[in-house]
Amino acid sequence: MAIRGTPTLIHYARHPYLPGAEDLLGPAGSPSIRDLVVSPVYEEVRRRARESLEHALGSPAVPRSVSETDDSDPTTAFLAFQYSQLLLSVPSIPPALFRRWCLSIAKSAWGTLVNSTDTSDARFPAGELAFVAGSLGISLEETADGGVRISVPSYIHMAAQIRESPYRLIRQRLDGEGNVLVLRRRAARLLQEAIRLYLLSLPRITLQPAVTKLFEQEEGEFLEELARRTPAGGDTAPGVFNPAFLPPCILEMKAVMERGENLSHFGRFTLAAFLHRLGASTDYMVECYRGAPDFDEEVTRYQLEHITSHDDGKGYTPPECATIVTNGLCFKERDPTRMCLDPELKRPMSYYVRRGKLGRSERAPGATGPVEAGDLPRHDKVD
Ligand code: SF4
Repeated sequence: MAIRGTPTLIHYARHPYLPGAEDLLGPAGSPSIRDLVVSPVYEEVRRRARESLEHALGSPAVPRSVSETDDSDPTTAFLAFQYSQLLLSVPSIPPALFRRWCLSIAKSAWGTLVNSTDTSDARFPAGELAFVAGSLGISLEETADGGVRISVPSYIHMAAQIRESPYRLIRQRLDGEGNVLVLRRRAARLLQEAIRLYLLSLPRITLQPAVTKLFEQEEGEFLEELARRTPAGGDTAPGVFNPAFLPPCILEMKAVMERGENLSHFGRFTLAAFLHRLGASTDYMVECYRGAPDFDEEVTRYQLEHITSHDDGKGYTPPECATIVTNGLCFKERDPTRMCLDPELKRPMSYYVRRGKLGRSERAPGATGPVEAGDLPRHDKVD
């Protein structure tokens, strides 16, 4: 027997982004934008919207607590969602913040959906998973035995961007009728992805110049703060970077993830810090991590942004050879140039520079070829 996902007010308060939430406003519909921006009646709406954007800016990959997301009435929650969208549409706001906000909302939704899998908690009536899924056009049923049934096309849609191997279709249990059978926690993770994709598909609102001016007058300080603090996203053009000159340690770190194996936290940090110093684009770095067993693109982008925005965009200093040796990630014996055997070589960065001088047309084993050849960025110091 399937449990129906009946809409309830508490569901909409927790998931005000869902299609259908606008019906909560009744026949009067939405207030005017001017009222939303200036009327004292909507002060709580504005406060919640600012809070939501602050969270997206600070910790988008961390779910907000349930009390933070369902403490308001559903109408306020829906208007705050709309107000956030309007703020994100002001031309001075970088598009990267919209992506972070989508991730933040999806992660917080995951937090409540995971809690809803605890059927003994009275705050979470059965059917929340099915309700959210149904609103997004996902074919998903909660079953009376505590499981979840998802049609294969819906499963593929939700799991397409999830690289963790337990989510691969080939590893799922099928019911023989075109459905995948999963546990409720896994269904919550899949729905997180469906929510993120849905939010990303929302069209950006084009504000009239007068409306932009109104926002700049009333929210100017907050908007400036958002624009200033939003890290540069992965949309920037690649810098000068030639993967043909990467040292054996960095090549192995890349290869570990390409093989779908786990790389230590130290290895992941070293790889990102090193590639950023070389001017690799965020997109290139994301691709390096794509094979990781726990790969999540938005989380990866968020973590890379943290590393690359450090120290006004210079990023963290990549570890020296001695530290890499201590962590078991030095593979100097694989170096065809034998430069790694030179006791004067202290840093992988120095290897890259020397290798570049040795011959820019040469290719290191395992390298995929130059992305863009050129000189090193001015930040790099060499031995
Ligand atoms: S010697 Fe340094 S650059 Fe060469 S593989 Fe080891 S850690 Fe990397």
